[in-house]
Amino acid sequence: MLRQTLLYLSAHKGLRHWVEQSPISEKLTRRFIAGFSLEEEMDVVRKLASERILATLDFLGENVHSVEEAARSRDGYLAALGEIECSRLSATISVKLTQVGLDLSEEACFENVSLLVEQASRLNTRVEIDMESSEYTDRTLDVVTRLQARFPGHVRAVIQAYLYRSEADIRMLSERQIPIRLCKGAYQEPPSVAYASKTEVDRNYSKLLKLLLDHGTQPAIASHDERMVRTAVAHVRENRISPEAFEFQMLYGIRRDLQRELVGKGFRLRLYVPYGAAWYPYFMRRLAERPANLLFLARNLIRN
Ligand SMILES: Cc1cc2nc3c(=O)[nH]c(=O)nc-3n(C[C@H](O)[C@H](O)[C@H](O)COP(=O)(O)OP(=O)(O)OC[C@H]3O[C@@H](n4cnc5c(N)ncnc54)[C@H](O)[C@@H]3O)c2cc1C
Repeated sequence: MLRQTLLYLSAHKGLRHWVEQSPISEKLTRRFIAGFSLEEEMDVVRKLASERILATLDFLGENVHSVEEAARSRDGYLAALGEIECSRLSATISVKLTQVGLDLSEEACFENVSLLVEQASRLNTRVEIDMESSEYTDRTLDVVTRLQARFPGHVRAVIQAYLYRSEADIRMLSERQIPIRLCKGAYQEPPSVAYASKTEVDRNYSKLLKLLLDHGTQPAIASHDERMVRTAVAHVRENRISPEAFEFQMLYGIRRDLQRELVGKGFRLRLYVPYGAAWYPYFMRRLAERPANLLFLARNLIRN
């Protein structure tokens, strides 16, 4: 119930405007968000690199309202790729297609994201295309497969284990050798398209992670769930899958203990590190995943 309420509020425009402009925004966000500027983001990414942790940069934003706004998001990402090049980091970028215009024009969106993938291919890195709610799944996978045809190996898709369709999508993408990030899924979905219970989602995640490790191309296992992480570790050990052949991914600020443990054991770990002023929907989804974060927040605000 609390999860549903928080997810509902994540799309509330009035509340979003008020909270994003609020003087307490920095205190609210500092656990999950690197900062409001690219400079702050790069400080965090360089520090992670010194701890042998890779990053994917997320310039926060989604569902833009004009092609000009979409172009500004694209330019923000081009600047991020420029910084990755200057710092000689092996970082990727993570992009939501609605941030580069999917709601406005599929062709404008494709042109924007193509420019990003073209630049990423020049730097020998990759653009990870985040997956949004299920109304976008077909269009997002269509863009990803078109991008793979143009820039093979420089784009990664995201698959959500809560959707019934995901096994078929993994098979289709793997046939085309498109790298996949497997996550559980962060949106409010109807029972007609997605498993509703945590047990069912976890069961499907465990099954799909094995499928991906066995048949995927450079898969990313994106979860903070210790049981999922241990299932993946056991599977790669039993099947002698090289640690070079896949990576774990987690969100910045979540389960730092598990992050350190994986790096200590020699596994590749990439953190999803968001930055920017449009932080509200991302932040609310993190609260919805773990309502206990509300207590953490309250303590932080009182302390400050
Ligand atoms: C790198 C990465 C990229 C992602 N990209 C997408 C995407 O493109 N599309 C999409 O729909 N979703 C995305 N997600 C979010 C994902 O779908 C889940 O909502 C989120 O990761 C929580 O699921 P979990 O696997 O960690 O398991 P859960 O069962 O939700 O959590 C397991 C444990 O992890 C810890 N934990 C999980 N979430 C939090 C939190 N917010 N705060 C504190 N502790 C927490 C808790 O200890 C919890 O008990 C991404 C997640 C990651 C890690």
